[in-house]
Amino acid sequence: MIGNLIAGAWVQPERDTLPIYNPATGEIIEQVPLSTADDVDRAVQAASHAYAQWSRTPVMERAQLLFRFKALLEEHLEELSAIITRHHGKTLEEARGEVRRGIEVVDFACGAPTLLQGRTLRLVTSEADQDYYRYPVGVVAGIPPFNFPVMIPLWMFPLAVVAGNTFVLKPSERTPLGAVRLAELFHEAGFPDGVLNIVHGAKEAVDALLTHPQVQAVSFVGSAPVAQHVYREAARHGKRVQAAGGAKNYLVILPDADIERAIPAILNSAFGNAGERCLAGSVAVTVGAASHSVTEALKVATERLTVGPGDRPGVQVGPLIRDEHRQKVLGYIQQGLRERATLLVDGRGYTHRSGFFLGPTILDEVAPGTTVGLEEIFGPVLSLAHVDSLDEAIERANQATFGNMATIFTESGRAARAFREWVEAGMVGVNVGVAQPFGFYPFSGWKGSFYGDLHLHGTDGIEFYTRKKVVITRW
Ligand code: NAD
Repeated sequence: MIGNLIAGAWVQPERDTLPIYNPATGEIIEQVPLSTADDVDRAVQAASHAYAQWSRTPVMERAQLLFRFKALLEEHLEELSAIITRHHGKTLEEARGEVRRGIEVVDFACGAPTLLQGRTLRLVTSEADQDYYRYPVGVVAGIPPFNFPVMIPLWMFPLAVVAGNTFVLKPSERTPLGAVRLAELFHEAGFPDGVLNIVHGAKEAVDALLTHPQVQAVSFVGSAPVAQHVYREAARHGKRVQAAGGAKNYLVILPDADIERAIPAILNSAFGNAGERCLAGSVAVTVGAASHSVTEALKVATERLTVGPGDRPGVQVGPLIRDEHRQKVLGYIQQGLRERATLLVDGRGYTHRSGFFLGPTILDEVAPGTTVGLEEIFGPVLSLAHVDSLDEAIERANQATFGNMATIFTESGRAARAFREWVEAGMVGVNVGVAQPFGFYPFSGWKGSFYGDLHLHGTDGIEFYTRKKVVITRW
């Protein structure tokens, strides 16, 4: 059984456990404890205790420790990637990409001496000057989802701790092993005990964090219903909250698109990470004459994708996280067929393998207002729809209650600009399949994809993890 990290010591709470699987084989590889409110309280007390000293540690020292942590992450990139693949299932190449994107946020956070500066206005009024200073907020809780076991924790605690906060991380109970290794490296870098604590578990542990009086801020990434719950509960208990939720991302292809470049980008968007990505392209909408060429090219390219264990060379699509999730995705394919979509590519043949595999699937002729066109499927299922104009395509995308990402493939600057202006999504791609902002920009979901105002990472992250003190001085 893996342990909780409390004040620098790994402890094994005597609690019920859940199995952690290798999704490529279906084997159980570890057990994770389901921590209780008492365990959460121990972690929060440890973070509170460490805060007294850590919040007074000079920013240069905090940043130096983060530089060391960054160097250790680089050194252990292969090991971290293998851990991700082993218990999440994604391919090693995708896992390496995940670690790389996580390190990017650490790179950004290393700029703390610049990022944490306040502002000054001299002579605000007669003989008086005004300044603001940034202070940490206190103990912060981070609650990531299963699909990026290393990258999403790295969106959270490096920025929080470099700003002088202390942290309690509650990793996903399905993929907690990445966070465990991150915490070991964090301690190897020399951070004091209690600055980062880990408490494993599920709903009970999360709810204890949301209501704990000593937790000042909550950073959450996960599904829409849980994001809403976290946002409400944490706010009701007086905490600041950022809660990133689910997604339904539209990819629009105009007739003038460079198809040779668009098809691989669409495939990676829809089937990369087995579709378990909040930036996964979920509905491809062709406009006018693009319909025929895109449909044919997508079918051919999708049927060529290699499905298999993520650690096997050449594999492009790994397994899903659990069998029950695979059953849910299969249910969506059935629902699509009931809603009169047609099967352009049927990946259901892969379900006989050991492990939680499902092949890439394309549902064609997906009509507006249908379940598969609006709900998040979170698997290797791409819906395809065909419309006559860009306006219609934008209208289809805007019907979704989510607003995470939308992408257009076109060679027309005018069309790209119209799309950027009118599509209701916080992350927009132009000829880019996965429009993930770099770590120094905010991860900027809109509508039902985000609850709160300050997004994860970038300068939004700095704002979220600090509070300002404004001083007026007259001598
Ligand atoms: P999830 O909501 O099931 O779990 C997320 C976290 O919440 C986990 O740590 C889990 O332990 C906890 N949790 C689960 N149920 C809970 C409950 N009832 N009460 C309190 N806590 C609970 O999400 P998941 O399945 O792990 O991750 C996939 C989801 O995350 C997808 O919807 C995906 O779109 C979303 N996601 C969003 C982003 C984004 O930035 N918007 C990024 C990655 C993933």
